[in-house]
Amino acid sequence: LYGIPGDFDVVVIGGGPAGATLSALLSERGRRVLVLDRERFPRYHIGESLIPGFMRPMEELKLLDRLEQRGFEKKHGGTLVWGAQKIPWGFSFIEGGPYSYSYHVRRADLDSMILDRSRELGTHVIEEATVKEAIEEDGRVVGVRYTIRGSEEVQEARAKLVVDASGQARVLGRKLTNVNWHEDMRNVAVWTYFDNAARLPGDEYTNILIEGLEGGWFWGIPIDKGTMSVGYVTASAAAAASDDSLEELFRTQLARSTQLKELLQNARQSSGFRSARDWSYTCDQFYGPGWALVGDAAAFVDPLFSTGVALATLAGSALSKIVDKVLEHPEIEEPALERYATAYRAFFEEIREFVGKFYDRTKYKEFYWEQAQTIVDPSRERDPREDFVTLVSGLSGRHPLFNISVDDLLAERAAATPVGA
Ligand code: FAD
Repeated sequence: LYGIPGDFDVVVIGGGPAGATLSALLSERGRRVLVLDRERFPRYHIGESLIPGFMRPMEELKLLDRLEQRGFEKKHGGTLVWGAQKIPWGFSFIEGGPYSYSYHVRRADLDSMILDRSRELGTHVIEEATVKEAIEEDGRVVGVRYTIRGSEEVQEARAKLVVDASGQARVLGRKLTNVNWHEDMRNVAVWTYFDNAARLPGDEYTNILIEGLEGGWFWGIPIDKGTMSVGYVTASAAAAASDDSLEELFRTQLARSTQLKELLQNARQSSGFRSARDWSYTCDQFYGPGWALVGDAAAFVDPLFSTGVALATLAGSALSKIVDKVLEHPEIEEPALERYATAYRAFFEEIREFVGKFYDRTKYKEFYWEQAQTIVDPSRERDPREDFVTLVSGLSGRHPLFNISVDDLLAERAAATPVGA
């Protein structure tokens, strides 16, 4: 049955958090969805510390119990060595509600769990299937061409809509739109894992540690018993100008840290180094005739606040609602996808703006709280500290992304259609 041209409602490129969430929620509504991913799951991915905004789409997917049962480490907040004050400061998600925690995860496990849920709801998933290009007809994307690992035969999958959720590979975005690099966030990251790492004390036991140094910053993520993911992020230009390799840079900077060094005193590095250019970017367009972008394929913001997976899954959920309506009412495709793009962009830009402000490390924590308030609560109704936590939780409630709807568009069209037409 599957693979017959025109058989699918939606083809999704990539089964990461964005593609898996989107496809799951569409399949649940009875849509015929194909996900193609070039990897075989479980597959490694960086991005292990999640913010509470991620819990909202997981609740929609009815995955909260499974997340709990899987025993992922619960993340209640963050501890920062950041800004002008010398002593560490922090925050607890409970101050920003409504979700008081999220998780630190091994992405191989988490991503498989979401993709399995999508399968369970009816999505047809083909792994080790690399999408090569879009099929375009009369200016519209009508499907994709892909190959299966080990074979050179090019296959076609056609659908009413194609969604690019291929992460930083940006399979469709690369060809169909331009990318804007955020010049102030041209960073590079190098990371590894340590066993037998100590934890922060008391209530901070499962917090992510973010430690700023003169030339960059470290993350310390307690993934599970004794294992800590440790990464160093610095400006690409600074790394390129240094005589040190990224690994040497990691080691010399780690020796300069205070909190992190202490946690790793008796720890042992348990894997090699990995690195990624994590330059932030936004695509010019998030959609076009027959196609849309979601997750990192649309935009990526520096990992300072661990927002990537929450953004990807929240946007996947929002897009599923839009696509569902577009499949039923193809005449609203353009304004409906525009609504999604506007909402997603606004949410993304809010986070990006704040991360930009947070990178100024000459300020005291009250400055960062006030900056958060200017963004999420300009009428200053709440304590700015709460606004800060809400923002870094990915839960700033002002966003149409959270309750996106095109009912008004449909009502307008219905009202404009002459009776009997
Ligand atoms: P991905 O998870 O990248 O999934 C894309 C999928 O598409 C992959 O499975 C891939 O195999 C598939 N694919 C790619 N090309 C093709 C193709 N041609 N054909 C078929 N399939 C294809 N986020 C957090 O939330 N917390 C963090 O702590 C965090 N830390 C980070 C640290 C670093 C250094 C970096 C670079 C990122 C970090 N992120 C973090 C961001 C996070 O990793 C991403 O935002 C998240 O994975 C985006 O999900 P996605 O589904 O859009 O893309």
